[in-house]
Amino acid sequence: MYIGHYAAAAALLALAPETPVLPVAVAVAWPDIVWSALVAAGVEEVRVDPKNPLQSTIRFTSYPFSHSLLLSGALTLLPALGFGLAYGNPWVGVAFWLGAVSHWLLDVPVHLKDLPVLGRLRGGKDRFVGWGLWSRPRLAFVVEYALFALVALATAPRSALIGLLAGALLLHALNANSFFGFTKANPTGTPRRYAALAFGGFVAAIAWFTLAWQ
Ligand SMILES: [Zn+2]
Repeated sequence: MYIGHYAAAAALLALAPETPVLPVAVAVAWPDIVWSALVAAGVEEVRVDPKNPLQSTIRFTSYPFSHSLLLSGALTLLPALGFGLAYGNPWVGVAFWLGAVSHWLLDVPVHLKDLPVLGRLRGGKDRFVGWGLWSRPRLAFVVEYALFALVALATAPRSALIGLLAGALLLHALNANSFFGFTKANPTGTPRRYAALAFGGFVAAIAWFTLAWQ
């Protein structure tokens, strides 16, 4: 999931409007930022089918540090502490942690059954969840945008709405090939390039959301 994660950011900022926007915008992207760094470093593993661009063909074979409920939730306490200290406000740390954990929760409906619950390392038995909406890609495309748009409509400051809805639509449209398969091949081709694209996509989303939510 990509821009759909910003539904959680909007909900968090509506519940606690005094929260600075940047840490929340980073938080909901955090697991994928960590993931792209760990894939580049060869610590976590993903398989990309070079002949198919669809999201449902990506195999997330190992990502316990970035995408498990328990281990990632525990590891995320560190950046949360960092943000709390940097802003001199413990709530910012709590909000960061909640935003980062929301990422896993919102990944559950779309991912195939590959999201680890515990985050056991190599060889350890784990439980995996995922409801697999990505295997119905057209529906997944609509649901992801609708989720963000509905939450934004309900929560965002009026003056921010157009920037939020239009920016989300643009970023979501840039990601459309992974839902509709316009190209025959996967343009990224390799795990590292796929991870680099995800990193760039989330940096763009952080900038968009932080600037638009005013
Ligand atoms: Zn993710």
